[in-house]
Amino acid sequence: MQDANIKTTSSEGDDAEKSASSAKAQTRRELRDLSHGELVEILEQLGQPKFRAKQIEDWIWVKNAQSFDDMTNLPKSLRASLAERCVLGGTTVAAQQVSTDGSRKYLLRFDDGVAVECVGMPSGNRLAVCASTQAGCGMKCAFCATGASGLTRNLTASEIYEQVMHVRDDFNTRVTSVVLMGQGEPFMNYDATLAALRRLNSPDGLGIGARHLTVSTCGIIPQILRFAKEPEQFTLAVSLHSAVQRTRNMLMPGVKRYSLLNLYDAMGTYVDITGRRPTYEYALIRGVNDSDEELESLVDFCRGNLAHVNIIQLNQVPGSKFEPASEARAGEFVRRLGQVGVEATIRVSRGADIDAACGQLRQRMERRRG
Ligand code: SAH
Repeated sequence: MQDANIKTTSSEGDDAEKSASSAKAQTRRELRDLSHGELVEILEQLGQPKFRAKQIEDWIWVKNAQSFDDMTNLPKSLRASLAERCVLGGTTVAAQQVSTDGSRKYLLRFDDGVAVECVGMPSGNRLAVCASTQAGCGMKCAFCATGASGLTRNLTASEIYEQVMHVRDDFNTRVTSVVLMGQGEPFMNYDATLAALRRLNSPDGLGIGARHLTVSTCGIIPQILRFAKEPEQFTLAVSLHSAVQRTRNMLMPGVKRYSLLNLYDAMGTYVDITGRRPTYEYALIRGVNDSDEELESLVDFCRGNLAHVNIIQLNQVPGSKFEPASEARAGEFVRRLGQVGVEATIRVSRGADIDAACGQLRQRMERRRG
């Protein structure tokens, strides 16, 4: 960690003001949570033509309007009537870190005070965003900073979506891909996750191709099977981390009840239905899942199946007993998988000088607040 290269900014001062205004707003609906039908209905009640719905949706889903007054092509009287019926909640940046490699990490705070992390990772003319689907997480993975503090709440579809708009606006460039690999387990918040993905994919939203939208799950089998039947070609990543049952039970106790055998079957069904290649994430942990026995189990799990293995260098979480394996060992995993025809890559770690991935920025800020 090179603290000298880190620029962290934080703005916590306006909290009291925010909570007072959100208390007042309690009876009004959040504009971004209205369905298209509900918005049309409100506009009808206000005697407004139908095309206003499209204009408003463009303001919230494309232009990322932060207030009704931003919506300059709406009559002032309509903006006022909307403000009487709805709120347009804002996110504030509670903290931000900029890495020397260009990636930026944000802690975004919603109106109720809950904060989540998202990251923007530029590379050439591409911009990848990593977004959260829950505040906190209930899955208790032993190596994960978010898992340690439990689930706070599910995010709404618009809260998932807003993170991506925020990163886009901060970089002032098009987002080319999104991975839901921030905080939380997307498949424990399935409906909101799918709604957010659909809007990210929609030409009336950010228009990102479905194949460039990736959901990462710790392996909730019923939802993997449900996801397989969705019509869009979204990409699936599964956190495997070990193909040995006892090791995986220790690392990922939240999915103990879904055995590796059942996961193997479910992934077979997923591939049969979709024809798409899933990614398996495997964070190499020294002395835990990096042995030859572990490697051969991983080979058996993947051999002959459509699979891409992403070897991840473990991000070290302060106070954790887990340490990353060596780069050489990661290389050996990739080579051995390649020998049996399984494509494997080592994930380039971005933002290693900032609070990296995996809940560390939130953890640090919440400690300060508490
Ligand atoms: N709950 C989902 C998505 C969020 S976590 C899932 O489990 O897939 C995104 C990825 O980061 C997962 O593969 C997760 O296992 C991994 N991860 C969590 N903590 C990590 C750490 N300290 N180092 C490396 N990867 C980690």
